[in-house]
Amino acid sequence: SGRWARAVAILKELEEKCAAPVGKLRQVADAMTVEMHAGLASEGGSKLKMIISYVDNLPTGSILCIGPWGTNFRVLRVQLGGREGRVLKQEFEEVSIPPHLMVGNSHDLFDYIASELAKFVASEDEGVRPPAGRQRELGFTFSFPVRQTSISSGTLIKWTKGFSIDDTVGQDVVSALTSAIERQGLEMNVSALVNDTIGTLAGGRYYDNDVIAAVILGTGTNAAYVEHANAIPKWHGPLSKTGEMVINMEWGNFRSSHLPTTEFDTALDSESLNPETDLGDVLGDIVRRVLLRMAKEAALFGDTVPPKLEVSFILRTPHMSAMHHDTSPDLRVVGTTLKDILGISNTSLKTRKLVIGVCDVVAKRGARLAAAGVVGILKKMGRDSSPRDGGQVPRTVIAMDGGLFEHYTLFSTCLEVTLKELLPDDVAAAVDVVHANDGSGLGAALLAASHSLYL
Ligand code: ADP
Ligand code: MG
Repeated sequence: SGRWARAVAILKELEEKCAAPVGKLRQVADAMTVEMHAGLASEGGSKLKMIISYVDNLPTGSILCIGPWGTNFRVLRVQLGGREGRVLKQEFEEVSIPPHLMVGNSHDLFDYIASELAKFVASEDEGVRPPAGRQRELGFTFSFPVRQTSISSGTLIKWTKGFSIDDTVGQDVVSALTSAIERQGLEMNVSALVNDTIGTLAGGRYYDNDVIAAVILGTGTNAAYVEHANAIPKWHGPLSKTGEMVINMEWGNFRSSHLPTTEFDTALDSESLNPETDLGDVLGDIVRRVLLRMAKEAALFGDTVPPKLEVSFILRTPHMSAMHHDTSPDLRVVGTTLKDILGISNTSLKTRKLVIGVCDVVAKRGARLAAAGVVGILKKMGRDSSPRDGGQVPRTVIAMDGGLFEHYTLFSTCLEVTLKELLPDDVAAAVDVVHANDGSGLGAALLAASHSLYL
């Protein structure tokens, strides 16, 4: 019928607008490399902040130390030791932040974090307590854009991911945490302030020396990589012993005319709190917006528009992913998701297939663009092609983490396949993508250890 043809036409149009063929991805990768140069050249030189992390020495297996902590709204204790300096034990407690604290004031938020820290410390055994006269050391993982002023200090540039607390912006988050810790009557020294992307890089490097970049695909998206310190014109500090410096790209801010954009993204951006960095939560909502247009213009779900389809973020990315992975002959998961989440019952198989088509287009665009971003990094590092001297292609490992990467298999698979598609065969063969499962807490702990007061 005409209605069905209209719905199919909307999908076709979406597909065209979202198309990310290899040629376009190369342009995106090139643009990323150009912006990386600009962001390293001067402060504010690019939308890519290219934040200097002050991490110039990624921990390797040789560190010996006891029990620093990292916290990413997760309180973690890592005990290091043994001849190999390996991680002996990791214990953690998940702490979820009550939603009202995410939009309240700084004092209350940090008090809450410190009080969770206090509870965790109160329950620990004798064996892991620091010797008398020594403070506990804390690695502070903070996964928001921070202008780092040293390894253990930095001011918040802005909140992302649903947080919005005005009085923290521009403040040193380590001082805020330290004061809250003191109010709890605890004695601790925050020896490293670590962005979660940097933490993932450090944690990944601990297990594998060839890890040179980390990418987070979670609620937000970001990347970090190891840069030559002498390739950072805006860095006026002393050159590090290693000659390296880890850069937190804040790549969620990346914009380019080469990025395939649709009306749905534009509408979503104008309604989102943190349009530039959010990823994991928006995919599901883009799918909802496409379905809403199909409902309105093509009566895809009958003569009336299902009211729930009008509700922003009602269709979560995990719902989208569950539908996308549905391989049952009658697409049962798609049917029940549409019914349970959107109140749309009795969908035909044809309609369900169309819904999967929408998920596929939206997920593939995101995954292919993420791959192009990784290629941009490899290009900046000179690792996107075989060495000119004819030598062996170095092994290159990218540590990835985040709920989207971990759980949305079709997304992560597409990312990996696209990455290989964009690289020459011999380079592709030397590139590995690994899942750094919650590596960021471990990385923060290791960095805290390597910047310890006592080592
Ligand atoms: P954060 O980035 O805040 O640390 P996570 O790394 O846990 O959070 O990632 C959360 C993101 O992962 C959310 O945006 C969520 O939509 C996405 N996600 C979680 N589970 C799934 C899933 N099964 N399929 C697709 N996306 C998922
Ligand atoms: Mg995460």
